Amino acid sequence: MSPSPQTAYYREQEHGLRTPELNSIYSEILRRNPGEPEFHQAVLEVLESLAPVLDARPELLDARVIERVCEPERQIMFRVPWQDDSGQVHVNRGFRIEFNSALGPYKGGLRFHPSVNLGVVKFLGFEQIFKNALTGMSIGGGKGGSDFDPKGRSDAEVMRFCQSFMTELSRYLGEHTDVPAGDIGVGGREIGFLFGQYRRITNRWEAGVLTGKGLGWGGSQARTEATGYGNVLFTAEMLQARGEDMEGQQVVVSGSGNVAIYSIEKAQKLGANVVTCSDSGGYVMDEKGIDVALLKEIKEVGRGRVSDYAERRGASARYVTTGQVWDVPCDVALPSATQNELDLDAAQILVRNGVKAVSEGANMPTTPSAVRLLQEAGVVFGPGKAANAGGVATSALEMQQNAGRESWSFARTEERLGQTMRDIHETCRETAERHGVPGDYVAGANIAGFERVTDAMLAQGVI
Ligand code: NDP
Repeated sequence: MSPSPQTAYYREQEHGLRTPELNSIYSEILRRNPGEPEFHQAVLEVLESLAPVLDARPELLDARVIERVCEPERQIMFRVPWQDDSGQVHVNRGFRIEFNSALGPYKGGLRFHPSVNLGVVKFLGFEQIFKNALTGMSIGGGKGGSDFDPKGRSDAEVMRFCQSFMTELSRYLGEHTDVPAGDIGVGGREIGFLFGQYRRITNRWEAGVLTGKGLGWGGSQARTEATGYGNVLFTAEMLQARGEDMEGQQVVVSGSGNVAIYSIEKAQKLGANVVTCSDSGGYVMDEKGIDVALLKEIKEVGRGRVSDYAERRGASARYVTTGQVWDVPCDVALPSATQNELDLDAAQILVRNGVKAVSEGANMPTTPSAVRLLQEAGVVFGPGKAANAGGVATSALEMQQNAGRESWSFARTEERLGQTMRDIHETCRETAERHGVPGDYVAGANIAGFERVTDAMLAQGVI
C-alpha cells in the first residue's frame, strides 16, 4: 500500500535553511549521524522554524544551544535475547534514547516494530523534547523500543521478550530519571509485563516508573483515550479559530491502533462522520461511519485486522487493498498510524478533494513536501508535536497521581486533558503570530517548544 517512508523522504528531501549558521549546524548533524533519515528529517523541520528566533536572540548561537539540543544526553543500545514457544532462541536489539532532561525526567514511549532502528528512535526522542515542553509539564524527552515484532506472537512469547528487554533497561529507569510509556506495538499488555519485571528486579513498587499502567495498579483514567481524544480536541480548536467546528465534518483516519480508535471515538462524539480506518494490509471505507465498538472488539480484544472489521460489519463497509485512506474525499484527515504515511501525492489528492484540516495523531506522518503543499493550499495543519501531545500530558498526570498516591476520576482527568490541548493550541497560535507567521502551527509549535527547553538549558549552565 503506502510507499516506503524512507524512500518517500529521500526523494523529496531538499535543504536550504534561511541562515548560513543553520545550514552549517545541519550539515554537521548530517555528518555526525549518518544513515538516519528520519532523524535528519525531524531536525530539519525544527531548524526551518528557527530563523526568526535567531534573528531576535543571536546569543543562542554563541551558546551552541542548537547543537546541544540536537545531541542526545545518552544513547543506550542493548541485546535482547529470548526464547519462543518452541524453544528457539531469538536476538533482538533494544534502544533507549535519553535525549533531554532539562525540563524533567526523560519521558517518551517504547515502540516494538520491525522497522525500529537507531535513527527512528532518535527522531521520536527529538520530537518528544519539544512536544513535552509544549505541555508545560515537568517532563524531559526520551524514546525507546526494539525491532521485535509482537504480531503473531503468543502472550507467553511477548512476556518473555518484555522480561528480557526490561532486565537490561531497568538499570537506566526510575521515577525521577526516565519514565517510558507505550507506542506502536506496546499497549497495556506489554506495559504490564514490563512493570512486573521492573518490580521484581528492583524490589520496589515504583508506580511512577512507567505510564499507561492498568487502572487497578497505578494507571490513570483517560490515558488510553488521551492521544486520540487530544488530537481531535486540537483539531476542533484549529477549526474554531476559523469559525467552524467538528459537527458534520467528514473525517478520514489512518491506522487502527490506540491513537486511531480514540480519534474516531472522539470525532464521532463531536458529531463528525468518520468513514475510514486502516492497517498495514489495507483500509476500510464504511459509508455509515466506523462502528467504534466493533473496531475495539476486533483490535483490542481479539488483536484482529481491519479486514475482519469489513467482514463483520456488513454491506456498508468495503475493505480496500489498493491506494490509501487519503483517496477518500474528506473535510478532515487525521493520520494516526506511522511516520511519512501521508506524502506529496496523497496531499495533492486531499487538496483536490477539498480537505480543510489535517492534524497529526501519529508522529511525523506527513512528509515535508506534503506539509508545505497543504499549508500553501490554505489547509489548516496541526503538527504532531502539538496535536498528539495529549497522550504524554496525561502520562504526566498519571505520574502526578502516582506521586500523590491518588486516583482521579475520568471526568477530572479528561477536563485537564481538554485544558491542556486548549493551552497548547493557544501557545502555538500566539507564538506563530508573534513571529510573523500567523496560522502556521508548525512554526508555532517548534519555536515555543524550542524556547521552553533551551531557556531551561541555558539557565542550568553548559549542559
Ligand atoms: P498501535 O500499535 O496501537 O497502532 C499502530 C497502527 O498503525 C496499527 O493500525 C498499525 O497497523 C499501523 N501501522 C504501524 N506501522 C505501520 C506501517 N509501517 N505501515 C502501515 N501501517 C502501520 O500504535 P499507536 O496507535 O499507539 O501509535 C500510532 C502513532 O501515534 C505512532 O506514530 C505513535 O508514535 C504515535 N503516538 C502514539 C501515542 C500513544 O499514546 N500511543 C502518543 C503520541 C503519538 P499494523 O497492525 O498492520 O502494523
